[in-house]
Amino acid sequence: MPCVRYANGFVCMPTIKERRVRVMKCPTCKRRRRFYCWFQEWYGWHMTCTGCGEQWQDGEMCPRPFAPRWRKENISRAKSNIKEMGLWSRKKSSCVTKK
Ligand SMILES: [Zn+2]
Repeated sequence: MPCVRYANGFVCMPTIKERRVRVMKCPTCKRRRRFYCWFQEWYGWHMTCTGCGEQWQDGEMCPRPFAPRWRKENISRAKSNIKEMGLWSRKKSSCVTKK
């Protein structure tokens, strides 16, 4: 687990063990969307919808952050992670997974 120096202390970032892209019906968007999913030690699976930016942790919807533009930032982070994995394309596929 890598720890980074942050302000007056250290923050330990649980290692991302596995990353996936899934296509599922988003409960917020009410339509099929691509989700960036990642698995971290201690925290389990996280998912971000690339349509609305909503996040889930181990099946529970994460509280919406009290911050401006959080949806836009979550969406662009999820999309860039999917692009980094080489799995982003305009063509909609039913289910793409990659370890
Ligand atoms: Zn959504």
